[in-house]
Amino acid sequence: KISIFWFRRDLRLEDNTGLYYALQQEENILPIFIFDTNILDKLSNRKDARVEFILDQLKSLSKELEEKGSSLLIKIGKPIEVYEELLGQYKIQSVYTNRDYEPYAKERDQAVEKLLKEKGADFYTFKDQMIFEPGEVLNGSGEFYKVFTPYSRVWKEKFQNQKIELLSYFHWKNLFQTSTFEVPSLDDLGFESTEIKIPSKSWEEDLISKYNQTRDFPAQKGTSRLGIHLRFGTISIKKLALETAPLNDTFLNELIWREFYMTILAFCPEVVDKAFKPAYDRIPWRNNEEDFKAWCEGKTGYPIVDAGMRELNATGYMHNRVRMIVASFLTKHLLIDWRWGETYFAEKLLDFELASNNGGWQWAAGTGTDAQPYFRVFNPESQTEKFDKELKYIKKWVPELGTKDYPKPIVDHKFARQRAIDTYKQALD
Ligand code: FAD
Repeated sequence: KISIFWFRRDLRLEDNTGLYYALQQEENILPIFIFDTNILDKLSNRKDARVEFILDQLKSLSKELEEKGSSLLIKIGKPIEVYEELLGQYKIQSVYTNRDYEPYAKERDQAVEKLLKEKGADFYTFKDQMIFEPGEVLNGSGEFYKVFTPYSRVWKEKFQNQKIELLSYFHWKNLFQTSTFEVPSLDDLGFESTEIKIPSKSWEEDLISKYNQTRDFPAQKGTSRLGIHLRFGTISIKKLALETAPLNDTFLNELIWREFYMTILAFCPEVVDKAFKPAYDRIPWRNNEEDFKAWCEGKTGYPIVDAGMRELNATGYMHNRVRMIVASFLTKHLLIDWRWGETYFAEKLLDFELASNNGGWQWAAGTGTDAQPYFRVFNPESQTEKFDKELKYIKKWVPELGTKDYPKPIVDHKFARQRAIDTYKQALD
């Protein structure tokens, strides 16, 4: 008889809630991971650094578990089919896992739970991905917040008043003792290796302490670059928040934005393909394919926009300030549907997170919660003046700036600004 701990986006042993409780409550815990082909098959690029990253993390986890006399069973397939196979192979008492709030994940977990229950096995889920999950931070009438500021106020009160602790003293002796299972190769998964470098998962006190002064300048290393580690749970959000909250309030606010958008997605899953404010789906987007291509390739003739897109294409990362600028440019200057930009980011960003990406795009397009009012159109030139005055960031990514090789602006700023305002206004009136 065994029980399973199912790793998903919590690829660590430290402070892993579901794993902790599995080991405390059951014996013979077999840790597993499933490369979900429902997700992998949708990735458009066979060179995807995120798949490589997950595999690397699984290798480390596997080693750590081996040292404890156990191993990590890695499967490739559709979760429901993998469970059918496992149920045939083992006598499974229960499955433990950490909750995931994305629409697909919820559906998947419901199907797995149903199958397990039919076979007499239990399915237990735990909060691990967030500090306060959807439903824990509510307003006076018991509803979820649609605006960030009051949400963050209540979030912080709870954070201060509740004693949040890291989990320690794991009952490792309850791991299923087994010889080592083989780890698949990238090739087995149908992927190839990339040159992309993954940011480190450690954080420096000094950087976090100065975060509010440095975070807006893309030429500086002024942000944590922890996005991918939060996405795949290679760090514990509790640990990060507990250690950084005393250092910098602005940084804590960003961690709260992450939970705010996760909450919005959990309560309004329709935002995945609809504007949070329905009237905004009336906007007649121009959706010019050539303009979109120029934007993707970083050839719009607007240096700050092009620098951002080239950074994204080359590294899988883009600085937050620049994400806001390129997103505003695509939706307002070019009047291209925010969903096009969102999809492109989802393919490229190492730290791609459905909730934050959707939230960020709807914010920039003016269609979301707390969004930019539609008549506020970022001026790429004044943004550059404010945040990259010496053109350090721009010159790094656009070395041909000022030569004849650099493209002319694909649209005039003043004209595009007015066109955006008129188009939005007409659609919303
Ligand atoms: P830091 O500035 O060091 O912040 C620490 C962490 O806080 C981040 O890793 C992230 O988890 C969280 N965070 C910071 N800012 C935000 C924010 N505005 N909203 C939600 N969480 C935040 N963030 C993603 O994690 N995934 C995405 O796919 C994503 N897409 C975005 C798309 C657009 C159009 C915009 C404007 C923003 C997007 N963001 C996204 C938010 C933000 O840009 C990134 O979280 C941040 O740039 C990641 O860099 P960092 O790890 O150095 O962040």
